[in-house]
Amino acid sequence: MFRPNDGRPLTLGRVTSHADPDLFAELTAELSGFPAAQQPDWPDRGAVDQAVSELRAMPPLVFAGECDLLRERLAAVSRGEAFLLQGGDCAETFDGVTADNVRNKLKTLLQMAVVLTYAASMPVVKVGRLAGQFAKPRSKPTEIRDGVTLPAFRGDIVNGFEFSESSRTPDPARMVRAYHASAATLNLTRAFVGGGFADLHQVHAWNTDFVRSSPAGQRYERLAGRIDQALRFMRAIEVESENVHKVELYSSHEALLLDYETALTRVDSRTGQPYDVSGHFVWVGERTRQLDGAHLEFASRIRNPIGVKVGPTTSPDDLMALAEKLDPDREPGRLTFVSRMGAKAIRDGLPPLIEKAIASGLVASWICDPMHGNTYEAPSGHKTRRFDDVMDEVRGFFEVHRTLGTHPGGLHVELTGDDVTECVGGGDPIAEDGLHSRYETVCDPRLNRTQSLELAFLVAELLDT
Ligand code: PEP
Ligand code: MN
Repeated sequence: MFRPNDGRPLTLGRVTSHADPDLFAELTAELSGFPAAQQPDWPDRGAVDQAVSELRAMPPLVFAGECDLLRERLAAVSRGEAFLLQGGDCAETFDGVTADNVRNKLKTLLQMAVVLTYAASMPVVKVGRLAGQFAKPRSKPTEIRDGVTLPAFRGDIVNGFEFSESSRTPDPARMVRAYHASAATLNLTRAFVGGGFADLHQVHAWNTDFVRSSPAGQRYERLAGRIDQALRFMRAIEVESENVHKVELYSSHEALLLDYETALTRVDSRTGQPYDVSGHFVWVGERTRQLDGAHLEFASRIRNPIGVKVGPTTSPDDLMALAEKLDPDREPGRLTFVSRMGAKAIRDGLPPLIEKAIASGLVASWICDPMHGNTYEAPSGHKTRRFDDVMDEVRGFFEVHRTLGTHPGGLHVELTGDDVTECVGGGDPIAEDGLHSRYETVCDPRLNRTQSLELAFLVAELLDT
């Protein structure tokens, strides 16, 4: 993985072990002039400096050349020649860095990607929300339980989920743990994907421990059978392709915690350009995309492909200002808009944005996050989403693009490879009063494996028509 599968050599750049002192000084000085939303109230600045200097001495997690390759892949998405599948946890956890957890997530992504590739007959660019998705923006800075007020949980990279004073106090040393957790996840991912696990001949094996009795599982089995047949045919006529044996999979996360992201920003030895080497693709979230804020300023200064969430409050002028800031040179593959409007708003909210982009000659990738506009609280107090709303937003997204003649470029979803009960509905329906049975997320509700596969089949139908 993380290699061109078209036979080209990939220049990775020199592996620098230390951050460039000038770049770091310049970045931190420049960013300090911009308000940074959603940053923790670190109790001890000395401990932050200590963690940052440890991070600055660490090797990069990803290589600049890999980020460039992903940018090329995303350029194909923006031209309507590929589809992007981005998915993983809302918030990764340190405890979640286990072989089973990572493998199940990858299996789910691979299964979804196969379904989409088969239907769309176009390449699917695979990007995990993993190996770095540890920081969370919060709607309130504190949480109150039984009259006790404590800092809100901001993700394992900042503080602990447990509701106690010691756990909720932000601890900068967690940034170093997050780096190691990301390295372990990436290492396992690279091994799984490069070591035969992602070989298309394994298309049935990804489904084995899955509920074959579920309609989505059975539907998948039938599709896997057709792929087998196609592979046998290819073998018979001696068509060989590297692409059968390996997969390119990239990492991504929200670039939220600026102490961490700046410490991992490095100068690429090939080009002298700065890259955030904490992940291949990073995005700016709905709560931190202020035009005069530090997050956009940071994102504008790195060369990685960048995403930005756009919601129901984004105006066409905001959209163009975001593009101007993040992609002034209009570089193919640089900019991905991730719309998260909500099922009710998408059909009216998205067209003015796309129309403005068309009128301005702006080419970007448009992908749909059908999760974040559809969250509500169930009577039991669980934060949840209705599977039907998720599906409806995806349908709306495709309708809008079909009407405007633009390319529905991809899907951004919160999912897990486990059979959790966090989102309501689906083919093997989960009821609101059943949410408690396996509600394991530390942040937003994720689609479980069956629901993820069902969503992939729906999108496949939409891509096929
Ligand atoms: C997220 O992706 O987990 C998130 C917080 O999304 P948004 O910024 O769209 O609210
Ligand atoms: Mn989320």
